Amino acid sequence: MLRIAEVTAAYGPITALHQVSLEVRSGELVTLLGANGAGKTTLLRTISGLLRPLAGRMEFDGRRIDTLAPERLVGLGIVQVPEGRQIFPELTVAENLRLGAYHRRDRAGIRRDLEWVLTIFPVLRQRYGQMGGTLSGGEQQMLAIARGLMAAPKLLLLDEPSLGLAPLLVRRIFEVIGQIHAAGVTVLMAEQNAAMALSLADRGYVLQNGAIRLSGSTAELRMNPEVRRLYLGHSL
Ligand code: ATP
Repeated sequence: MLRIAEVTAAYGPITALHQVSLEVRSGELVTLLGANGAGKTTLLRTISGLLRPLAGRMEFDGRRIDTLAPERLVGLGIVQVPEGRQIFPELTVAENLRLGAYHRRDRAGIRRDLEWVLTIFPVLRQRYGQMGGTLSGGEQQMLAIARGLMAAPKLLLLDEPSLGLAPLLVRRIFEVIGQIHAAGVTVLMAEQNAAMALSLADRGYVLQNGAIRLSGSTAELRMNPEVRRLYLGHSL
């Protein structure tokens, strides 16, 4: 579904991604692990067209996408849920959700997806008319994911969905990501919570200083001494 080959990206003079190659197959849940500053957000922003790669090739469903604008990519089904939620605080939950579907014309589909996200996140139904900015951090994260789902993603890019959430909510968010995946959405998820991410994903990549350091099935990664030491906190 998504194939990235030797992608390099930079912020001015700072190269943030060095020849990154990665693949996400249809129906997979793939996690991207890495410490702060490893380049996870940069990679997701490059895939969603917010940052233009300097070199390399990106394909989605067999079609070259590395020169397409973000709106075109959303139209193709590549939808990013940004780090730090970034919902619209001055708009209601309902309006935030409606904005997620701004590019869609299939009214029946929009109605069906709205019902789906309100079923997955019952708290959003309770807060439907409330301003986004008045929601708790966890509720805002749910709203951000729900808004992403309203865009009818084929590939959902999640940037650190558990960031800043209390442990109980982290578990709830991962549970929901599992449900979204089970419903047929392909997911690429950047996470610092390696233990949780590896318990949910099919495969993973480890980014270090802007380069892919390791990749494999989650079972392989969980057994890898470097992953255990650096990302799972085991002392060997
Ligand atoms: P975090 O988990 O802290 O968000 P990350 O893995 O997502 O980390 P990135 O945000 O992708 O990492 O950052 C990768 C590198 O690019 C870092 O060295 C960072 O300082 C740099 N960087 C990120 N955004 C910019 C920017 N707008 N301008 C210049 N450098 C940037």
